[in-house]
Amino acid sequence: MKQPLTVTCPTCRAPVEWGPQSPHRPFCSERCKLIDLGAWAAEAHAIPGENLEDELFSGELPPRGH
Ligand SMILES: [Zn+2]
Repeated sequence: MKQPLTVTCPTCRAPVEWGPQSPHRPFCSERCKLIDLGAWAAEAHAIPGENLEDELFSGELPPRGH
């Protein structure tokens, strides 16, 4: 017996059958696919230097004394 291969939708964790009946695999739907692509694009467009600057600034704060 051959079991149908299923994968987990990366966005909503729903089981998705891996086959022509799931055109958006590994996503369960076009909606989940767009959500994931949107999240990826937001990360790609983030400026890496911003976080570094915040860390440097917080490092200038005087140490907390008791
Ligand atoms: Zn999904």
